[in-house]
Amino acid sequence: MKIMVLLKRTPDTEARIKLSADGKTIDDEGIQYILNPYDEFALEEALQIKDKLGSGEIIACSYGTEAQRDIIVRGLAMGADRGLLITAEARRDSLGISKVLAKAVEKEQPDIVFCGKQGIDDDNMHVGVMVAEYLGWPHVNVVNKLTLDGRTATVEREVEGGQMEVYESQLPLIIGANKALNSPRYVSLPGIMKAKRKPLDVLTAADLGGEAATCKSEIIGYQYPPEKPPGRLFKDKPLAEMVDEVVRLLREEAKVI
Ligand SMILES: Cc1cc2nc3c(=O)[nH]c(=O)nc-3n(C[C@H](O)[C@H](O)[C@H](O)COP(=O)(O)OP(=O)(O)OC[C@H]3O[C@@H](n4cnc5c(N)ncnc54)[C@H](O)[C@@H]3O)c2cc1C
Repeated sequence: MKIMVLLKRTPDTEARIKLSADGKTIDDEGIQYILNPYDEFALEEALQIKDKLGSGEIIACSYGTEAQRDIIVRGLAMGADRGLLITAEARRDSLGISKVLAKAVEKEQPDIVFCGKQGIDDDNMHVGVMVAEYLGWPHVNVVNKLTLDGRTATVEREVEGGQMEVYESQLPLIIGANKALNSPRYVSLPGIMKAKRKPLDVLTAADLGGEAATCKSEIIGYQYPPEKPPGRLFKDKPLAEMVDEVVRLLREEAKVI
């Protein structure tokens, strides 16, 4: 079975985000980038399928700048067999990215494509769904469980209120991984050493037979969230008095009770 996993590079969840001078992007200085955490669940599922079947090929693919190479190498260190980096000169929106990724999927003809349910930075949940729409493939997002029986996939996704929706689909299929899907493995030292010897192709949209991706939307600017008011400390008074004061403030100022 041939499986493709789409990987996105995101700022570390612990990173303190600073905006660039024009406010249109984030300032990269001092920011640690990681593999989008949901993409780890996506890759782990692909690896477990290959382990179970005893054969297959997993392609780790990302679209962006040369900086994306690091997360592909991480994917190779986790166990993917081959990397595919698609580079572009300018930033693209989700639609443009999906169009190019769909071309890559068309070229590779995998049986399943895994992606994360969302990028933890932009939080759009666009790409997997749009790639599927470009290809005319079925897709299910926010997937908690996947069972394969030959070319038939049974897919469970959790919906509001904890209910499960169950889908059945023939392959090929695009799956958006949720964190309940599995527990991603740690990257081992031998895995890191092996990753250096695995093939990693670098292509452009033109190499894939597609036009350069267009951008239909433009980010006008990012804004910091409003400053939180400073915390208040209650001390040096009898406990009952302080509790009364906290309750009064919660009722009259915060209006939460
Ligand atoms: C040359 C270039 C430069 C860019 N520079 C920036 C930048 O500086 N800052 C910035 O915020 N964004 C940048 N982007 C866009 C960014 O890489 C994202 O792909 C885009 O914002 C879509 O992310 P999302 O959160 O909307 O994806 P979602 O739809 O939320 O992601 C869902 C899933 O789709 C897959 N996916 C998403 N994006 C990609 C991708 N690029 N490659 C492979 N799989 C993907 C992942 O599996 C992800 O879990 C750039 C893109 C390009 C092509």
